[in-house]
Amino acid sequence: MKENLSKKIVNSSAAQEENFLNWNNILQELKMVFGNDVYESWIKNINLKKEFNHYVILSAPTRFVRDWIVSRYADKVLDQIKNFKQSIQRIEFLIEEKEEKLNKKDYPKNSHVSAIENSLLNYNRFDTNNSFDNFVVGESNELAYMAAKRVCLESSHYNPLFIYSGVGMGKTHLLNAIGLEIEDKQKVMFISAERFMYHFIRSIKNNEMVKFKDFFRKANIFIIDDIQFVGGKEAMQEEFFHTFNALIERGSKIVISSDRPPSNLERIQERIKSRLSGGLVVDIQPPDLNLRKKILKNKFEIIKRNFKENYIISDEVFDYLATEISSSVREMVGALNRVLAFSKINNKSPSVYECKRILKDFIIYNNKLINVESIQNSVASHFNLNIQEMLSPRRSRSLARPRQIAMYLAKQYTTNSLPDIGRRFSNRDHTTVIHAVKKIEDLLKKDNEIKQSVNEIKKKFL
Ligand code: ADP
Ligand code: MG
Repeated sequence: MKENLSKKIVNSSAAQEENFLNWNNILQELKMVFGNDVYESWIKNINLKKEFNHYVILSAPTRFVRDWIVSRYADKVLDQIKNFKQSIQRIEFLIEEKEEKLNKKDYPKNSHVSAIENSLLNYNRFDTNNSFDNFVVGESNELAYMAAKRVCLESSHYNPLFIYSGVGMGKTHLLNAIGLEIEDKQKVMFISAERFMYHFIRSIKNNEMVKFKDFFRKANIFIIDDIQFVGGKEAMQEEFFHTFNALIERGSKIVISSDRPPSNLERIQERIKSRLSGGLVVDIQPPDLNLRKKILKNKFEIIKRNFKENYIISDEVFDYLATEISSSVREMVGALNRVLAFSKINNKSPSVYECKRILKDFIIYNNKLINVESIQNSVASHFNLNIQEMLSPRRSRSLARPRQIAMYLAKQYTTNSLPDIGRRFSNRDHTTVIHAVKKIEDLLKKDNEIKQSVNEIKKKFL
């Protein structure tokens, strides 16, 4: 895969003006980069309108969609375009209303199923692999697991149940498991906040708000993933608040996931935060080594079962993966897949040495094993802080310095843009990041203590 990527770059640097960008190819890449939800909700609505030497003009169907994309995804979109054509320096958007109308043809005019329902039902499918049975329980996730199981019982009083954790810790897995468990018995609605928002906007445009409301308020259990994404969208929050209240009133259960606790959600109305904290709030902590090993073995069994292949993986390799990749379970599973591919091709387990090689490639290609979150984790643990403290607005030196070091390392070791790094530090401005980077660069030249700290932290996440 890495070879592909570098080939692409070589090709594009050789590209002449007459080598126009193939937008469909770029969309395919964007889908991989952003994942299905974000892609379906926003990215696929972008079109390439015009291409110049150093910039491209893209179209978005509405002002709202444009603003949304520009504020959240533009950096990564540009990065992908650059992969195809290095000379592109920036992107511009124009608004092209007719695109949205074209989309309407997805739905037959006289269909008895409403457009909303039709498109929503596609998102209400559950992944049978992510069941309670396939969730490995340990100290760090036990509470969330038990609470999720409890929600499935008639007698549960946890309402709403709010689960939060860093990325790749199993939130979506648990939400999915709840859905699987009760979909036969009750009407379950499972949707990501991004997706909810997309349908909300679409319904406003198409004058389908009544249907929208009805649809969501019918649920016996309403599960919404990654709520942090509704930050800032007032009209949408308003609707969410009313949906929430209507559901509670009719005795439906609500389950929510987020990357942070309700009190730390940004640009979300206080009254919503207080509603979100009104039931049970539980977190999932990063798994310890032992649990990581168990999860790996469990995934391994599932993959073997699903693909009916007999992969050979030695115990040393499991140990190696579980020890080396601690930032998120998702990364660990990604690494396992790499190792399995090797095992299949060579019909033997890779040695640890070979693993290093296989995963080095994985790390470079994926760039995900080191990310802003894993850096923040390493810095916080080095200074004995918790992440929330480190990201808080407080300016005391004991917090500000670690925060600056984390920003500095994020700039050095990830491909995230400065605004994006800023956003991941509780929505700070990119100028704050620039300042932090300069500050630490300066200190590294003259302050041995900082230098030593930075080196120790690097060992943690590299
Ligand atoms: P999140 O939603 O918190 O970012 P996911 O639920 O998408 O994380 O989990 C990422 C991957 O890790 C999924 O493949 C999931 O099945 C797996 N995973 C996470 N925790 C566990 C666990 N305790 N047992 C089994 N698999 C897990
Ligand atoms: Mg998730």
